[in-house]
Amino acid sequence: MNRIELTRIPFIKNALKSRYPQLAVFIVMLIGYIFAILAGLIGTPVGSHNFSIVFVWIAWWAILILVAVPFFGRGWCAVCPIPLPGEWLQRGAALSPPDKRPKWLNLRVPKMFRNIWLQNISFLLLALFSSVLLTTPNITGIVLAAMLFAAIGLSTVFERRAFCRYLCPVGGFIGLYSQTAPIELRIKDKQVCVTCEGKPCYNGSSAGYGCPWDVFPGGLTKNTYCGLCMECIRTCPHDNIAVNLRPFSADLAKPSTRMDEAFKAFIMLGSAIIYAGVLLGPWGAFKDAAYNVSSNSWFIYAIVFLAIIFVILPGLFMLGILNKKNTLPLKQRFASLSTALIPLGLMFWVAFSLSFVLTNASYILAALSDPLGLGWNLFGTAHAAWQPMFTSILAPAQTLALVGGLIWSARTAQKAAGEVKVSPIPVIIYCFIATSLMLWLLL
Ligand code: SF4
Ligand code: SF4
Ligand code: SF4
Repeated sequence: MNRIELTRIPFIKNALKSRYPQLAVFIVMLIGYIFAILAGLIGTPVGSHNFSIVFVWIAWWAILILVAVPFFGRGWCAVCPIPLPGEWLQRGAALSPPDKRPKWLNLRVPKMFRNIWLQNISFLLLALFSSVLLTTPNITGIVLAAMLFAAIGLSTVFERRAFCRYLCPVGGFIGLYSQTAPIELRIKDKQVCVTCEGKPCYNGSSAGYGCPWDVFPGGLTKNTYCGLCMECIRTCPHDNIAVNLRPFSADLAKPSTRMDEAFKAFIMLGSAIIYAGVLLGPWGAFKDAAYNVSSNSWFIYAIVFLAIIFVILPGLFMLGILNKKNTLPLKQRFASLSTALIPLGLMFWVAFSLSFVLTNASYILAALSDPLGLGWNLFGTAHAAWQPMFTSILAPAQTLALVGGLIWSARTAQKAAGEVKVSPIPVIIYCFIATSLMLWLLL
């Protein structure tokens, strides 16, 4: 498969090797993040006029799902401020490794948690409360602060970035969809790694830290767990790490066999369908149920939400791939074939987010001038009227995204089915029905 090594370009290589450009972006992001927490806690309770809601759930979400994840994979994780304070505390430094590192517990995360089930649960918790989270500034402020403190707490107990790797609700789906991105970090030559002494990319050296994501870069075959922190570029003494441009979804050629990753695909697919129905659909009763947290109707909503994700969607998928003649375990076929849902889910989120973001993007201008809703007018745009944007291209763009996702999934299903020696047809039919449902909900 064709790859173009971006790190051959001296400007890119130097910018990635040096800690200063990344630190500068980190500091801006951290200030923005802390401001979002404060705005959520002390700003106006009107969500559409509060920086925390408008910048996190509209501006950041739009950039993340429409640009960062599809084109840069875990690019957001490379500049995300959430793990920073904990990591600086853990390392006792904000830049290169210090002579003496602080004595934290540095425990290894117990084996039973070294998977993405906790990330699946944390995402579902946010998803179940999302109607409130997306509209109530102080809840958004509390959740953002809780993520920051959880990352700090885990950094003082466990080694490396335990929060990112095993708990972050955002990191789980970014990792899943990063496999489709046309960018990767990989070693250049396996043989160099075999003879490399001390493996500083994993164990660290005076030049840099061992992989914060607990990945051995020499063995990387997919993007899922590489946070693109660039430490291994700094530590590898043999200049054996490259950042490459590559074809889209290259990682999906080798399907996963892990059930936690398979269920992540169902969680993301199901959540996109449910959100499209509840948040954008014409059914007021569903919306009321989702908003009235702790009411009886919310409990029914939560049960239906979980049933769709854990029973109905995987159950129908399983029925489709049952084949007594196939000798491979059903679990393996299930996990491998669910790879086809990754591009489908990503494009469902793109289509859903286009509605959500274009309808609400005009709030960004007003919030920029008056981020706390206190009557300021910093840039003269505080009174910009709400107005949906690009309404004429919304439906064609969504249709294109969904149909494109279906074709992409069908191709992925063909490859995955080839690996486990089954017919791709049931998976393609499944994807077709899911896409038709999403088209009906959105258009
Ligand atoms: S995993 Fe989560 S906290 Fe960690 S860098 Fe990525 S988005 Fe940020
Ligand atoms: S430090 Fe470089 S050469 Fe050594 S194992 Fe890591 S990537 Fe390979
Ligand atoms: S050290 Fe290298 S392999 Fe590990 S997360 Fe950072 S960029 Fe990825």
